[in-house]
Amino acid sequence: MAKDPICGMNVDEKTAKYKSEHMGKTYYFCSQTCKTTFDKNPIKYVAGTQGIQVVVAAVKIRRA
Ligand SMILES: [Zn+2]
Repeated sequence: MAKDPICGMNVDEKTAKYKSEHMGKTYYFCSQTCKTTFDKNPIKYVAGTQGIQVVVAAVKIRRA
């Protein structure tokens, strides 16, 4: 079971109609509305988890 990052609902990956890829990871949504919201600003919704780490890693690579 995957979690819709927009509304927090549980979404079954096998039957999910709405999904989006971001930074090599697939996100699942309960509705077109949630997918559209995510697509407009994906960073905002993944920043709380691995998003920050990805940004930090990118900054480190640039400095090296
Ligand atoms: Zn949703």
